[in-house]
Formats: sequence, structure tokens, C-alpha cells
Amino acid sequence: MALPVRSREVAKFLISLISQIFLIEFRKEKTRMSKFAAIRHSKNSAGTPKTAKSLLRRRAAVVAAGVGVTVALGAGAASAADGGLLGLTSHVGSTVSAQADAQAKAAADAKATAAKAKKDAAKKADAWVKPVDKYTLGEPFGIPGSHWAHKHSGQDFVVPSGTAVKSVHKGTVIKAGPWGGGDGPAYGNAIVIQHENGTYTQYAHLSVIQVHVGQQVGTGQQIALSGSTGNSTGPHLHFEVRTGPNYGSGIEPTGFLRAHGDAV
Ligand SMILES: [Zn+2]
Repeated sequence: MALPVRSREVAKFLISLISQIFLIEFRKEKTRMSKFAAIRHSKNSAGTPKTAKSLLRRRAAVVAAGVGVTVALGAGAASAADGGLLGLTSHVGSTVSAQADAQAKAAADAKATAAKAKKDAAKKADAWVKPVDKYTLGEPFGIPGSHWAHKHSGQDFVVPSGTAVKSVHKGTVIKAGPWGGGDGPAYGNAIVIQHENGTYTQYAHLSVIQVHVGQQVGTGQQIALSGSTGNSTGPHLHFEVRTGPNYGSGIEPTGFLRAHGDAV
């Protein structure tokens, strides 16, 4: 016989065992009662009520014991049930706990995601991006050009007219208008944005200017539509990186953007 291992099996085993004991006791008592009846019949009028009462009490005690067994079994069963309930409660508890953990994790994840988004936004704001998305690199910085009095002061990005032009970094618009915003007629409609650390960017030959002087712009924010205004042989964006606000302080733009994380 395999040892009962589970509480339900233990309870069944105990019920069976106690029932058998009770049955055996009951049979013994039945035998005694039969003997008593025989004695009473034999003694008849001279019976012994005291003994009869005693036997009856004993019988009642056995019955009570039986009830007691039932009560005990009931208690045992209840106890087993309680055990099960405790287990269930424990299970429910752990499920609730798991749910709480999941919720806490979700909250932590959401917080981490928000923190990451904030960090990414901050990183994006600190980043430098290309002034146009789709382009062909045109005339580079520093070469003598037929339509430039001096060496080419910026990098050309060949794009169709009407292409969105973006500020390569957050900053403040310090020039915006025709005649290069004050830098000269060759630039056509142009914008100059002042960034931190004494860096300026210039966007020229624009068809439409969408910002005004004094405006704060974010990294990648659209500021204009490209065009071919000023001294231009065809639609393109002329883009300069300057160390000062005016013409003549330009540095090589592609190397600058590459050094600041966005190769063109
Ligand atoms: Zn150019």
C-alpha cells in the first residue's frame, strides 16, 4: 500500500481507518447488548436496572464517540478543506502578488520608456541632423566657382524646389529674408541660425522662408522650402556652417556634420 502523500488522500485514509474501528467497536457492543438481553431475560423480574442503565450509558457513549468521530472527521475534513483553501488562498495570493509585480513592472517599464523618450528627445535636441533628407551632394565647400567671387563658402545639396529645409540644430534665427538676409544678393532668400558654442548655420537660395528673426527653432525643425533664388544655376540648397554670423566665417559643412554625428 502506497503511503498517502496528499492531504485529501490522508483524510480518506483516516476516515476509512476510524470507520473500521468504529464498526469493530459497534459490533463488540452489539455482542455485549445481546449478552445483556440474555441475562435480563434469564433474570426477568429480578433484573438489574443499574447494570442495564450502565450498559445503556456505555452504548450512548459509543454512539457519542461515533458522533465524535464524525465531528472529528468533519473537523478533519474542514481542516483539510482549510488546508486546500489556504493553498488556494496562497495561490490566489501569489497570483495577486504576481499581478501586482506585473503592474509594478509595467509601471517601471512605462517610467523607463518615458525616461528613455525624454532622454532620446534631449539627445535629439542635442544632436545635429542633415538640412534635407533626400539629396545629391552638389558643389563642395572651398572650390573656386564661376558664380562666386571667392571660394565656395558652403556645401550644395541638390534637391527639387519645394523640398523641406530643416534646422540642423536647435538655435535662434538671427537672419531671415531676401538678399541673403543681409549677407548679399547672391544668396537669394536665406536664413542664418545661431547655435550654442558660437556656431551658425546658413540656408540659401530658398523659395519660401517659414521662420522669422528672433524665433527659437528645434533640431530638425522645418524652417523653409528650397528653391533657386539669388545667384543659382538650378534648384538646390546652399548650406553653410559658420563660426560667426556673417559671410566669410564658413567652415567645411560635411566634416562638421560628420563630427557631430550625422554624416552627409
Ligand atoms: Zn552653394
